[in-house]
Amino acid sequence: MSFRLRVAPALCILLATMAHAVRAQQPDVATTYRAAADSLIRGATSDSVAYRRLGRLVDTFGHRLSGSASLEAALDWILAAMKADGLENVRGEPVMVPRWVRGSESADLVKPRRYRLAMLGLGGSVATPKAGITAPVLVVGSFEELERRASEAKGRIVLFDMPFTEYGITRRIRTDGPSAAARAGAVACLISSVASSSIRSPHTGATRYDSTVAPIPAAALSVEDAMLLHRFQDRGEPVVVTLRMSARTLPDAPSRNVVAELVGREKPDEVVVLGGHIDSWDVGQGAMDDGGGSVAAWEAVRLMKRLGLRPRRTVRVVLWTNEENGGRGATAYARTHAGEVPKHVLAMESDNGAFNPKGYVLAASDSAAAVVQQVAGLLQPIGATGVQRVTGSPAADITPLAEAGVPAMELDVDSEEADALARSGLQLLRAALAGLDDD
Ligand SMILES: [Zn+2]
Repeated sequence: MSFRLRVAPALCILLATMAHAVRAQQPDVATTYRAAADSLIRGATSDSVAYRRLGRLVDTFGHRLSGSASLEAALDWILAAMKADGLENVRGEPVMVPRWVRGSESADLVKPRRYRLAMLGLGGSVATPKAGITAPVLVVGSFEELERRASEAKGRIVLFDMPFTEYGITRRIRTDGPSAAARAGAVACLISSVASSSIRSPHTGATRYDSTVAPIPAAALSVEDAMLLHRFQDRGEPVVVTLRMSARTLPDAPSRNVVAELVGREKPDEVVVLGGHIDSWDVGQGAMDDGGGSVAAWEAVRLMKRLGLRPRRTVRVVLWTNEENGGRGATAYARTHAGEVPKHVLAMESDNGAFNPKGYVLAASDSAAAVVQQVAGLLQPIGATGVQRVTGSPAADITPLAEAGVPAMELDVDSEEADALARSGLQLLRAALAGLDDD
């Protein structure tokens, strides 16, 4: 990760330097910016400042869940360090964020045998009664199966055990599963973690209650424990689980978007935004999601400052708060800067993990894409020349800007190798277990 985190800033920074051209159609990016690009790449790959900073951030403060004291302490530290770096207009812009507190939680298999399941409550979940909810489990493999078997769901805990395909597809069980189960009369909802495998590491993430049905407690099991319950059901053995959760939603709390700039030398009122989201879930330290993306954007501007590369337009780092369970940082930024949005020439976010950079995912016009293609050519020395076009916003926190017509971009990274390894491991596991059942 050390190498990767050194490379990512190069990508952000090049973009930031070159982005002036996205709306203004500069024909000769390759010649004009070759020297600056090479100097940035050298700067970004010749030390480990960003990696050490990320280590310091996650080790010192721990998790950065919205509404927590540890998030606000981390923001204070970042703001002070940005000022010490000599960045300009460093400030925390106020945002009120939701405050969900996990509390204690557990899930125990009661039948056919006693076993402590690996679980994590889903962000935003309501609590169970103090004594917990003990109920038979109905395992379904899809929303369609739940619909077919709705009559069996009443009074039960519904478990979605849907094989992982792609994050964007499988995560529907996390966002929409609990309300679908509630509508069928379930008393609680469990899901298989939205991951290819998890080996007693369940994954949290936000759920989204539909306001037309009363919310029920919702939690994720490890992929393997969900498979275990599914196998019991397939063998006709009744499955009973006790779920205990004491999660609470407290009144909204004050937080901040971190903003820092290098003011442009020619068009200071025009803005290039680059950043990541600084909040995380509460059960890790958010090193990948999205400490890495946040520090990469910060490092990009620090490097520009250190190398004396004053951009033509203002380059603004934004570390959005509350992406994970509310997106309030993104909406607050768009609201606070509403008058300035037409002066935004590009918005870029890095929220795909600190893997090797491959290039960009871009939502913009054909003419803007042609310019970005030239910019990408400058990244040949680090092999990050890809430009993938999408419609709609490529990343969560820049969505309000993309919707207002600002060209929007996300760093494209190479996470395929890690994904493929995990997928093949899980396929082997499923095959082996299927083989066992045949005996
Ligand atoms: Zn993220």
